[in-house]
Amino acid sequence: MLSIYGKTIKGVIFDAVGTIMDPSPSVSEVYAAAGLRQGIALNVGVVKQRFRQAFSRLESSEGQGPLVTSEQIERRRWRRIVDDCLPEVPDPERAFEELWDHFGRPESWQAFPEAGWTMKLLSSAGYSVVVASNFDGRLRPVLQGIDELAVWADSVVISSEVGRKKPHPQFYEATCRRLGLAPQQVLCVGDDEENDWNGPRRAGLSALLVDRGRSPSGPSGRLAQLDELLELLLGQRSAGSVCL
Ligand SMILES: [Mg+2]
Repeated sequence: MLSIYGKTIKGVIFDAVGTIMDPSPSVSEVYAAAGLRQGIALNVGVVKQRFRQAFSRLESSEGQGPLVTSEQIERRRWRRIVDDCLPEVPDPERAFEELWDHFGRPESWQAFPEAGWTMKLLSSAGYSVVVASNFDGRLRPVLQGIDELAVWADSVVISSEVGRKKPHPQFYEATCRRLGLAPQQVLCVGDDEENDWNGPRRAGLSALLVDRGRSPSGPSGRLAQLDELLELLLGQRSAGSVCL
């Protein structure tokens, strides 16, 4: 077990989107195609920019609030994002329903190549592993249908079911309860600075960011891919070289 500053890590929680899996094709391509089905031709780059703006606008306004969520709230939230990305479509409800269904299907997602076996090896080495995500209830059937990740479909903590979303401390507390571990024994791994680094650390967990754009040999304390985490946790790399 990895021991850092007197903390013994016994469990690892993985974020879902951007960490163990990503949409394929991209969100902006899929939104643009939904527009096109209603006769609206939009540049994918424009859709991408609109999506980023709509998503970060909502994240930052939600960040000021109580971070309460539910399946219903998530549906409403995505409805707003679709409306902001595709304001030109004649039937916004249809666009929303099509996109909601699309991202609830496993074939719309792709596991990062090293994710499944990294998680499996950690688990075999004695770590408790769960997926902890701000996704909604669709995450379970999505994981179930992705070969490399199917084994984790029942090992998920989902914010819409907890009632609080990342980066609210109650979300990480619920995750630690699920693992049966104290926050000090749990390492959070994800791709979002606020949700997967600041939030868990405020709740007493350790954290590590995965930044897939960076070079593996770079000096940053971030992982370029998840199997670097495996090296770290199995003690083949100095814990001092990574800032948890
Ligand atoms: Mg993420």
